[in-house]
Amino acid sequence: MKHVMVFVLHHARVMRHSSSMALRRTPESESTGRNAPSVEAAFQAAPEELMAEILEGELHLGPRPARLVRVSAGVGRMKYYELERDPSPHYTGNLNAKHTWWLPGVESCPVCDLQPEGGTSAQYPRVDLSALSSEEQKKLSSAWPVPREEFIRRRELVRPLAPPHAVLESGAAFGPLQGTGVGYFGQLVMQNPWSLCMRLEALERIRNAPELRDIQLETHGRFHPDCLPPPNPPCPTCGVAMGHGVPDPYWLDASSLPPHVDIFRLADASTLIIANERLVDAVHRLELDGVVFKELEAR
Ligand SMILES: [Zn+2]
Repeated sequence: MKHVMVFVLHHARVMRHSSSMALRRTPESESTGRNAPSVEAAFQAAPEELMAEILEGELHLGPRPARLVRVSAGVGRMKYYELERDPSPHYTGNLNAKHTWWLPGVESCPVCDLQPEGGTSAQYPRVDLSALSSEEQKKLSSAWPVPREEFIRRRELVRPLAPPHAVLESGAAFGPLQGTGVGYFGQLVMQNPWSLCMRLEALERIRNAPELRDIQLETHGRFHPDCLPPPNPPCPTCGVAMGHGVPDPYWLDASSLPPHVDIFRLADASTLIIANERLVDAVHRLELDGVVFKELEAR
């Protein structure tokens, strides 16, 4: 089994003049969020002793650090970490940027005041909706709540253009993150706890917006049931049950954690980005800065 650092990156850049950006069409492999089959095949065929990464749709191979070999050999139990922005004061970077398209909110139930169809902080920067009509794209650029039927209609417009794992709920964002950035950014950037970007260049450019890419994460993993409050009963009218906030402290359900990716968005709380120790090792080895890792308990 290959243990690799899989950053699924997209190709968009944070532009200094977003208003001048025309919507771009991308090759099929980009718009579906998948890599070319030949690249995927080469990735799968990568020698066990090498570390394989797919970046920008291209396969990169490098020597596997000794520590990763030891971990992947099953010595010890995998550790998991929550990613947080490094609070050090010199990370002054601030993004004024947003994604191109959104799934809107849904008008709330008149009985319970909850929104049906769920909600998510998931972001899919590699999903390209520019093939839709300009009228539909305009509708998908607004997060304003709409009737449930209209939400479902828009969601089903997006579905064929999104990867199979995409969480298509209110608040899901698609397309390149575009806007401006000022201040000092680390190599890894978290504008908020649910958004992770990575610098394209190590070169420090204090006065210019650095070229950042946001990272398209799969959604996996559950809280351990022992840290959750009892579930609320569903509303008899809309069937939605009041959810719960992130338990404090929380534990992960070890059996729900994905073996095939080293960083993911937590399915039970889409505002949380979780990495395993293989990714943390790689970040430390590559001396990437800007985020800190809080160790979690997985049971
Ligand atoms: Zn209701």
